[in-house]
Parts: sequence; structure tokens; C-alpha cells
Amino acid sequence: MPNQPAGEVPGRNEQKRAGGKKHGVAPAKASRELRKETMYNVTLIPGDGIGPSISEAAVRVIEATGVKIEWERVEAGLPAIDKYKDPLPKHVLESIERNRVALKGPLTTPVGSGFRSVNVALRKEFDLYANVRPALTFAGVPSRYSNIDLVVVRENTEEFYAGIEHYIDPQRNAAETIGIVTRSGSERILRYAFEYAKTHGRKKVTTVHKANILKYTGGLFLEVARAVAADYPDIIADDRIVDNMAMQMVMRPEQFDVIVTTNLFGDILSDLASGLVGGLGLAPGANIGYTASIFEAVHGSAPDIAGKNIANPAAIILAGVMMLRHLKEFAAADTIERAVRALVAEGKAVTRDLNPATPVGTREMADAIIARMMAG
Ligand code: NAD
Repeated sequence: MPNQPAGEVPGRNEQKRAGGKKHGVAPAKASRELRKETMYNVTLIPGDGIGPSISEAAVRVIEATGVKIEWERVEAGLPAIDKYKDPLPKHVLESIERNRVALKGPLTTPVGSGFRSVNVALRKEFDLYANVRPALTFAGVPSRYSNIDLVVVRENTEEFYAGIEHYIDPQRNAAETIGIVTRSGSERILRYAFEYAKTHGRKKVTTVHKANILKYTGGLFLEVARAVAADYPDIIADDRIVDNMAMQMVMRPEQFDVIVTTNLFGDILSDLASGLVGGLGLAPGANIGYTASIFEAVHGSAPDIAGKNIANPAAIILAGVMMLRHLKEFAAADTIERAVRALVAEGKAVTRDLNPATPVGTREMADAIIARMMAG
């Protein structure tokens, strides 16, 4: 197995790669010229609920950068059940396998009965072992802090989410969930976090664990963390017990940079991190594996507001920004991010969750982002 996540190694999605500056500030037009020879194939799963409208907004914004993408549109979840009687048809898996990169709208998971989560199935199918969720302060979004810029890297495949659980008596009075942590699973997520820090200009990686009580699973993760850290002398490495970490994140979040942790702690701390910067409305996420990577908004399909042109498209657009950086299209990614930040800070052409007084629609917010990008 290659020791690099998908997208960092040449794949079919990258038919020709041109050079590019990592943190260039080229406006949309310059980006177009710089990238005119490169073509990517990306699987697009529009999703359901608000998914199709926010995904379309993201596609338009990404295309406005001039980066050339051949979108392979495929349906999963509820629309796929209607069409194919299968929430995750084979051709969807084949498309992601071929293209190695996907942008995905949210998918509804029926509660209790019905099909199992397509999101979890995709994670398992492509062994998407790293869940990456940045939390960044946005001017114009009310939140408790004004200076947060951290990234939570969550192990996505092991421990209590491996699905090894059962009742241990027929009366169902006791239940057991087994969490397995492996040396190889720990090493790949920890190495991913340190590599991420290195390639994204970050200075510090904090490993979060509970090795004082979970002496074996937590102990193994911490042991591997210390060994991996030794390979990255330029990055400050420290570790925290999860309960102390939760308090520190609430009291002094600015002390953190990259946070890496096991599955359950990562699930909780990544939502905590989103809460520090004003909620899920602007929260993107990436699921990274060796053979494929899937980018999406953290929020769900919001059935309560579907079909009304009022959903905020920013989170999936920012997931598109993560995707462009993954493809090393740094100038295009910077152009979009700058435009979104400026628009949100101004607070005029944004959806009602960001401006309840004089909101615009999903499509109009995307138009305004594109207009900003074109203005440079
Ligand atoms: P949700 O995130 O869909 O909605 C929670 C609240 O936030 C709702 O009031 C909704 O209107 C609002 N909201 C969400 N996204 C918004 C946006 N872009 N703009 C404006 N408002 C927005 O969470 P939920 O209601 O718990 O879940 C609905 C469905 O989505 C469930 O079936 C769940 O399983 C699924 N889900 C999917 C994903 C995914 O595909 N990755 C993630 C989370 C939830």
C-alpha cells in the first residue's frame, strides 16, 4: 500500500499537473490561465434534501476559478433507492474508485429502520481513515472567540466505531462494545496528522488520549504518537488527556493547532471545535484514504428547509476548497476562501442563517461569491 493519501499521489483524476504556488494570491483570472492545461475527473454525489442545491452552488463556484473538472454525477442515498433500489449502487463505488476524489452533498440516513448509513458505508468501502475538520474563526459570524484556527484529525475506522457490539444477555440488561486500536491504524493517522502539519505550515500537533485509564488502547495510541513525533523534529508535539483537553479547548482554544485523536474522542472534539467558531454553517470536512478521498459539508441534509433556496452553501463550498488544496490547486482554493470570508464578514449577500434580517437565497449567495472572485 502506498504511504501517501489519495490525491497526493498521481491518479487518473489528474491528467496533467502544472506547477503552482502553495499560498499564491492569484485572482480567479490568473488562476484560470495558470491551470488551463490541467483536467481532473471528480465524482459528484449531489445528495438529497438541501444537497442538490448546495452542491450545484459549489460546482459553479469551483468552476469559476477556471480549474477544469469533469464532474461525474452519480446518485446515492434516497434518490438512488428511488432509481436503482439500492442506496449505494455499484456504479457509484466504481466512479469513486476510478476518480479517487469525490465531492459529496449530505445524505439522509433513516432513523431506526431502513438502509444503513451510506456515509459509514463509503468510509468502510474506501478505508477513509482520516477525518479532517478545520475550525476557523469567520469575521461576521457570532462566536465566543475571534482567533481560532485549528484542525481536528480524527481516526475514522477503528475503536468503538468498528461495529463490534452486542447485548451480552437475552434480557438485554447488559451490552458490550469492543474498541480495537491497532499499531498500524494508529501509525497511519498520526503520520497523516504530522504530514498535514508539515505540508500546511502548521507548528504543533497535540495528541489526545485517555491512556491513564485506557492503558492498552490509549496507551498504544500514545506510544505510537511519541514514536511518530520523533520523526518530525520541526513540529512541536505534545499530548493531553481527553477530559483536560475538552476544558482547555473551551477555555484557551488558541493554544491548539493540529489535534489528532482516536475515533470517539475525535467525533466529540470536532463538533466542540465547530461550536467554538459559530456552529456547523461554515464547517467543511474531508475523509481521506489511500485510494480515495471524499469532501463534504459537516452538516446534514436539512430536510426541514429542502427545496426552498434558503440553505447556506458555504460549508460545501469550503469542502470544495479543501478538495482543491488536496489536488494542489492552491491559488484557486485561496481565491474561493477569500471571497467566502469577505462575503460572510460583510454579511449582506448571505443566507438567512447568517443574516436573518435581509437574507439572500442559496443561488444568489453563490452568485455573490463568484462576483467577489472575479473582482479579484
Ligand atoms: P442537519 O445538519 O441536516 O440539520 C440541523 C439543523 O441545521 C436544521 O435546522 C437545518 O435546517 C439546519 N441546517 C443544516 N444545514 C444547513 C445549511 N446548509 N443552511 C442552513 N441551515 C442548515 O442535521 P439533522 O437534521 O440531524 O440531519 C438530517 C439528516 O441528515 C439525517 O438523516 C442525518 O442522518 C443526515 N446527515 C447526513 C450527513 C452527511 O451526509 N454527511 C451528516 C449529518 C447528518
